[in-house]
Amino acid sequence: MIKKTTYFLLIATAFALLTSFYTNPGAEKQKPVIRTIIVDAGHGGSDNGARGDYSFEKDICLGVALKLGKKLEQEFPDVKILYTRTRDEYPSIKARADFANANKGDLFVSIHVNAGAKIRHSKFSGYKTEVYYTGKGKKRKKHTRKVPKYTYYFTDNPSNGTETYIWAADRADAKGEFVSERMTEEVNDSTEYAPDINDPEFKAKSLLWTKRYFDRSLMLATMVEEEFINGGRASRGVKQRNEKGIWVLQATAMPSILVETGFISHRPEEDYLNSSKGQEEVANNVLAAIKRYKSATEGNPEPKQGF
Ligand SMILES: [Zn+2]
Repeated sequence: MIKKTTYFLLIATAFALLTSFYTNPGAEKQKPVIRTIIVDAGHGGSDNGARGDYSFEKDICLGVALKLGKKLEQEFPDVKILYTRTRDEYPSIKARADFANANKGDLFVSIHVNAGAKIRHSKFSGYKTEVYYTGKGKKRKKHTRKVPKYTYYFTDNPSNGTETYIWAADRADAKGEFVSERMTEEVNDSTEYAPDINDPEFKAKSLLWTKRYFDRSLMLATMVEEEFINGGRASRGVKQRNEKGIWVLQATAMPSILVETGFISHRPEEDYLNSSKGQEEVANNVLAAIKRYKSATEGNPEPKQGF
């Protein structure tokens, strides 16, 4: 027996197909939007990343990334899951982006751990006598005065919770460069003619792709933070920033996010992120977001890549 929902789905699918043909002639060979996912464990090797009371960021990144990758492989047997590293080594940021682009990734997910600097406090601890001089030559006179003395101490930074980064919108141009580059390579792969990057049509397409990648990155980042909230974590939200470590988001010509899975400088979160339960939960949260993202994007297919 065919249920009503099945009819509905059939009609919806037919409608989606028709409209996609209408808006995108030549898209008859629709492929799934997500065929390759790049999982990037931050830092590694000589780059420890942030340091907690007893652990390094790089090891948590690898633990979570491998668990996430395994879950993705099980969930999406038809999707290629590729890792920028699977052990304690350091591929450069550029090598990671090149790897993602060369393998035609459709999604780049980077796993990191945040850290807040210890907070410095000063405490008045009495006076000390300081010597100072006035005048010059014979008029030079020695004086003493009492000055307050302070001792300094540090306390842990109370910051905690998750953040997901996308590249800053004001740097869309920077991403556009990499998108154009990848488009050029894909065209070179499929035809014998090199595209003219100054061609207005090429430029428009590159802009369109860049914009689409931005929208999709934002959508996925939002879903990741929603899943963290569902999982009972404290979410600090989706952020845009340009700084060291975020560059990889610009250099990857695909939707890309960087997940700060918690603060290693916050002892309860350091414990959570080092536990296998915590790592499993974080991986499950990110997986749930990618599942939602995949069905959202593939329910509304984009034109096939390459042209
Ligand atoms: Zn990091």
